[in-house]
Amino acid sequence: MNALAATRHDFEIARLEPVLARRISVLGSTGSIGVSTLDVISHARRTYGAHAMPVEAITAHSNVEILAKQARAIQPKLAVIGDEKMYGALKAELSGSGIEIAAGRAAVIEAAARPSDTVMVAIMGAAALEPALAAVARSATVALANKECIVAAGSVFHRALANSSASVIPVDSEHNAVFQVLNGEGAHEVEKVTLTASGGPFRDWSLEQMAACTVEQAVAHPNWSMGAKISVDSATLMNKGLEMIEAHFLFALPVDKLDVVVHPQSIVHCLVSYADGSTLAHLSSPDMRTPIAYALAWPRRISSPSRRLDLSQVGQLTFRAPDYDRFRCLGIALDCLRTGGIAPTILNAANEIAVEAFLNHRIGFLDIPRIVESALSDSPNANASVDTLEAVLAADARARELASNICRRVVN
Ligand code: NAD
Ligand code: MG
Repeated sequence: MNALAATRHDFEIARLEPVLARRISVLGSTGSIGVSTLDVISHARRTYGAHAMPVEAITAHSNVEILAKQARAIQPKLAVIGDEKMYGALKAELSGSGIEIAAGRAAVIEAAARPSDTVMVAIMGAAALEPALAAVARSATVALANKECIVAAGSVFHRALANSSASVIPVDSEHNAVFQVLNGEGAHEVEKVTLTASGGPFRDWSLEQMAACTVEQAVAHPNWSMGAKISVDSATLMNKGLEMIEAHFLFALPVDKLDVVVHPQSIVHCLVSYADGSTLAHLSSPDMRTPIAYALAWPRRISSPSRRLDLSQVGQLTFRAPDYDRFRCLGIALDCLRTGGIAPTILNAANEIAVEAFLNHRIGFLDIPRIVESALSDSPNANASVDTLEAVLAADARARELASNICRRVVN
């Protein structure tokens, strides 16, 4: 680096100092988003200096080996394993490291409650709800990758936000894109927000082909490398349904202002259309490290190691309407958004159970919409509103039991 470049680099570091000094906690560090988050932090340290983005806590469910490896590399103050049985193994792995350790579900929630500036919520499923609420309650900045907690408990989440000065920065790529396009202006003059969907691995498959698909085929997403559950959700298009509900709660948008378009290249992440006929889009390569870096540095921007967009390499951007007949989960989710009340809670819980059963080879791919639909139709008062966390957790537990019973009937 020549002298001028070195001076510029120092100036850039000084300018970003408040962002680089932020203390971060990463919940779900061993998952796809968690690993990408630690990659963005490591890149920031290489780019701006080893002091950048100190880590308060990292948490994982049961993979002690990866958690311990991450802890040694990223040097958090605390490493937490959700599965209490793994406490001894984590202790052995991190002995002599000076890193505090803890285990159990309560310890994951406590990790979110520890003082840090930003909490990345990258736990899979509704299990993220209580840790996310713990971060909201102490007015942290919440980088929210998890969508299930918003779907399961949108109004409870909203109330918690209203009672704190927490900020939520969406990490889900489409919502992060909408957040960037809106740029703090709110959604008042917005006529329509369109989320894009890649269409998943079965975009052009017939129902007969989907009925016979394997787990390996369902999790092999063409554009994104993600955890197993969200990969199956992308294959059924439930992911886009959950994202419509997520957008409704995050941006206070009614269902008739939300739309979906299938965009196989996953380059355009959202389209925001305004009252004057303008439509603004957000583009980037399909690489989650871009929205993660944005969420960690908001409202500034830091360097990220993500793939850069080269439209001449991409060649074509194409768009088409989703097929609601082949991908029934999308329509089921939209109906739940229209119904409101606990319908989205039931939808999410039943889907988590059905996807787990599919991943365990217990049911077929097309049983997923059947089970979710049955759980919804067998739930009385799906439109009843829920105001408290306890009520949401009770509705979630009931729906899981119901869906598990339906799964058993499908298997037998
Ligand atoms: P993943 O399965 O790869 O990782 C999940 C993480 O959560 C792991 O660290 C796991 O140890 C932890 N975890 C799982 N169950 C837990 C529990 N009960 N208690 C505590 N920790 C638990 O998942 P992912 O693909 O990284 O997705 C994480 C979240 O981000 C999901 O809600 C997903 O919808 C959302 N998301 C992911 C992507 C992506 O590209 N992967 C994109 C957008 C949104
Ligand atoms: Mg998404």
